Parts: sequence; C-alpha cells; structure tokens
Amino acid sequence: MKRAAVIGAGTMGNGIAHVFAQHEWDVRLIDTAAGALERATATIRGNVDRQVKKGTLPEGAGDTILGRIATATSLDAAADASIVIEAASENPAIKFSIFESLDRVAPADAILATNTSSISITEIAARTRRPQQVIGMHFMNPVPVMQLVEVIRGHATSDATAAHVMELARSLGKTPVEVNDYPGFVANRVLMPMINEAIFCVMEGVATPESIDTVMKLGMAHPMGPLALADFIGLDVCLAILEVLHRGLGDDKYRPAPLLRRMVAAGYLGRKTGRGFYEYPAR
Ligand code: NAD
Repeated sequence: MKRAAVIGAGTMGNGIAHVFAQHEWDVRLIDTAAGALERATATIRGNVDRQVKKGTLPEGAGDTILGRIATATSLDAAADASIVIEAASENPAIKFSIFESLDRVAPADAILATNTSSISITEIAARTRRPQQVIGMHFMNPVPVMQLVEVIRGHATSDATAAHVMELARSLGKTPVEVNDYPGFVANRVLMPMINEAIFCVMEGVATPESIDTVMKLGMAHPMGPLALADFIGLDVCLAILEVLHRGLGDDKYRPAPLLRRMVAAGYLGRKTGRGFYEYPAR
C-alpha cells in the first residue's frame, strides 16, 4: 500500500487527502485541532458524494475513499509515510517547527513536500537534514477540481526528488509544472500584481469592482474577475503574499494597495467574512 501523510486538515489539507485517497493511497491526515479533522472528514464526504452524483466516481466511492483516510493529532502518524505533504497554516514558525519534527519522525528516504503559497522552500528545507528531499507541491483550491500542481525546487532539491514528485502529481491526475524557488513562485507572482492593480483601480475610482471584473472576464476570457477571485482567496491572504513579493523581490511595483490594507484592517476579508469587494449573505 502506498502511504502518504498530510499535515493540516484545513481548506487545502482535506482536498489533498481526498485526491491521494481517491488514487489508492493510504492517507494519515494530521492536524493539531481535533475539530479540524472532524470538519475535514465531513467535507471530504460531501465532496465525494457530489462527484458520485455527477457520475465521475462510482457508487460507494465515499466509503472506499474515507476508509483509506485515518486521522491523527500527532506527527508520529507520519512515521511510515513515503511522502508527506504539509498544508498547515501559512506561518513560517509553524512550518519550520513541523519540518524539524518531520525530519525526526518520517522514514529517512521519505520526501517532505510543502503546499506553501509563499514561504521559501529553501528556508523550510534548511530546517531538515535532508534538504535534497524537500520540495514544494503547490496544489490549487479546490484541490479535487483544479488541474495544476506547481512543483517548486528549493536550492538543494535533488533531480531525483523533483522527477519523483512530477510523476506523482501526474499519477494523481494533475498537470505539474516545475518552477524554481523565488518569492511567490510563478502562480502568485503573476496573479497577485494583477489583483493588486485591480484594487488600485477601485481605489482611484477608475471603475467599480463589477466593471473591472467584467472587463477581465469578457475582455480577457478570465473565468472570474480579479476582485471576485481576491474575495475567494481571502484579502488577508492576498495582502500577506504581496508583502512577501515586496520584501523578497525589493521592488515597489509589488507594494500592496492602501485600500487592500484598509479593508483587511476593517475585517473585510472576502467570502470568509461575508464581505470584501462584494457581499456574501449567509446561506
Ligand atoms: P487553513 O487555515 O484552512 O488550514 C490550516 C490547518 O493547519 C488548520 O486546520 C490548523 O489547525 C492546522 N495546523 C496549524 N498548525 C498545525 C500544526 N503544527 N500541525 C498540524 N496542523 C496544524 O489553511 P489552508 O487555506 O488550507 O492553507 C494551508 C496551506 O496551503 C498554506 O500554506 C497556504 O498558503 C497553502 N495554500 C492555500 C490555498 C488556498 O486557497 N486556501 C491555495 C494554495 C496553497
């Protein structure tokens, strides 16, 4: 049996566990918060049931997939994994401490991957004694639906580790793209300046959020406008990533729009708080 451990059972962790289990991996889903594990299990059940209803998974897939996922609150559950995917909160101190522990707990030949959106893979890898086996495996949200996996090589990542993870992503039905470890990698380095520029347009009164999103949807064939996408991602997350780009690349073209800072300070974080550039009435 192929054995994987997923650390963090939030938005991304539950999707990653789902996709691995769907592809016949035995998964240990680990989170320090027992409540997060319960919510993740319920979310996976709901998402698999939807796939069954759509006919993309066979009847009974829910029990099979959930039967392959065991939950745990201790990293010790990663002791027999050949690959670990860390998807805990986007906080460097948390990730550094998880990788220091994983290096002790996981088998010596295991690959340690992180789903970080913006923290340096090289810095995370340096917390371990196996930096050649540490890599970024950046899934997109929602994980069971989105095709892309950005595979990020840290400074010391070996060719063998990169090749293994590219092949693994393909075996999960995804399309991997290999990139190098620079702030924001490719996805966020290209996306966030566009979102930021759209926010500057709102701030300067160039157009309303609806108009800006319509221009980008109908004019550029984007499925979602940049401001609706910012609300979906979370304005606090967008701000944090822009700060990483600004600090890491040292160019003022990445400075976060003052309106973005003001909305985050006011708690207008997008969908998750019911209000961002748009309003999301509680369902
Ligand atoms: P989230 O807040 O939904 O979930 C994070 C989970 O990590 C929580 O359940 C928390 O209890 C758990 N956690 C915190 N400290 C832990 C520890 N020491 N050990 C185990 N679990 C711990 O976050 P998310 O949105 O799922 O993001 C997870 C990672 O994925 C981040 O690095 C983020 O940058 C990245 N990411 C997020 C998205 C997205 O759209 N949400 C997309 C791509 C990548």
